[in-house]
Amino acid sequence: MFWRFFSFIAWQLLGGLAGWYATSFTRAATSELVGTLAGVVLSGAAWFLMDTSRGVRLLHWLRVGDASEVAMRTGLWGEVSDRARRLIRAREQMTQESQRRLQDFLSALQASPNGVLLLDANGQIEWLNQTAAAHFGLDAQRDLMQHLGNLVRDPGFASYFAKRDFRHVLTMPGRESTPARPVKLSVQLHPYGEGRLLLLSSDITAVEQAEAMRRDFVANVSHEIRTPLTVLAGFVETLQTLPLNDEERQRYLALMAQQAERMQSLVNDLLVLSRLEGSPLPSDTEGIAVSTLISQLEQDGRALSAVMNPSCEPMHELKFESLLSGEIIGAPSELLSALGNLVSNAVRYTPSGGKIEVRARLLADDRAEFSVSDTGPGIAPEHLPRLTERFYRVDRSRSRDTGGTGLGLAIVKHVAQRHGGELIIDSTPGKGSVFRIIFPASRVRLPKELPASPPAAPGASAPDPASSR
Ligand code: ADP
Repeated sequence: MFWRFFSFIAWQLLGGLAGWYATSFTRAATSELVGTLAGVVLSGAAWFLMDTSRGVRLLHWLRVGDASEVAMRTGLWGEVSDRARRLIRAREQMTQESQRRLQDFLSALQASPNGVLLLDANGQIEWLNQTAAAHFGLDAQRDLMQHLGNLVRDPGFASYFAKRDFRHVLTMPGRESTPARPVKLSVQLHPYGEGRLLLLSSDITAVEQAEAMRRDFVANVSHEIRTPLTVLAGFVETLQTLPLNDEERQRYLALMAQQAERMQSLVNDLLVLSRLEGSPLPSDTEGIAVSTLISQLEQDGRALSAVMNPSCEPMHELKFESLLSGEIIGAPSELLSALGNLVSNAVRYTPSGGKIEVRARLLADDRAEFSVSDTGPGIAPEHLPRLTERFYRVDRSRSRDTGGTGLGLAIVKHVAQRHGGELIIDSTPGKGSVFRIIFPASRVRLPKELPASPPAAPGASAPDPASSR
């Protein structure tokens, strides 16, 4: 400020001096005075013009200039320009930072598995993420500033939106929902700001399906238990009220034992399933020898086939062979239970005199295949996709008569999956069925990989001749 004042005075002094000097040759005192005054006024005006032009230049720079350039460097205007430039740059940096944060924020919302949609006070879409676009069949660019009520035509949503009571969650079909593949959305609007709305949507199809399955499961279990329980209660009442002779009493008690056994099998299978669901994945070190598995299956299969025959002789032609020596890595009890279920089904559903073959072999890609084939009634193709559903039965009465629970194949599939394997079912009605479990190579331990066993004691039995690769 001092320099500005000083330069103004200096200009005027110089102007006055110049005016005096220019008129000093006239030798008239009045002319010299007028010349000096004129010099002062003219230099003042020149200083003012120059100063104003610098001010105008600065104003122009402020209006359209580039903040990275310096409009002027010296004087008061130079300092004003420098300070303005710094202020502008600080603002620009703040704006860039806010932009970056906004972008980060929008990217986070974009990555959200839930749909997020922002509406202005008129119900027009201000922003939406891709998930919301997919849920409502919208286009994240094209539909901006469109009225949401015009784009989402579901009647449930229309009345929810119109009532403007957003305290509860709305469940509505998703845009891609079809009768064959229903998609369920949970939608809620949240008011914020001045009349604006935040819409959150999530795909609850899986949750709804799980809930429906849980309901079905509870209903099925109750039904399965209620039937034998009702029969048992009836027999108990009969025993209590009727004067029965010994023979009749024994007959009723045998029927009661049958029903109790049925309930026991059901509870056992339910416990197996719940253990499978709740326990960690099977070990990847422990295993069971294929030959042990096959001989255990043979023992149980022959026993079951004999039990089903009044003469107590196996009523089927049974063949068990292991073409694979080595181990299956996993939980032995689960493996036995799964394969045992397949053998038990084959025995229970194949009529007397039928042929049942159980075989273990190594596939070309080092996977292990266990197959159980029978010459039973076979299964019509339309039932095959649903066979592993809990309580799904093709022949309900045959299943019950032979002590089936409807959970066997569900257990088999679960065990196979827990071991990284798969269950494959092939069946021809009237000819028979083949159930195969294929374990991945990672679950197969071949003899060369097995830890060396101690040398056989003299007289120890030779290796199982049936076990060969
Ligand atoms: P269940 O305890 O009733 O046998 P599963 O889950 O083991 O239940 O089997 C489901 C249904 O698949 C059975 O009810 C039966 O109708 C059919 N099924 C299973 N194995 C065979 C088979 N080997 N031959 C014919 N039908 C079979």
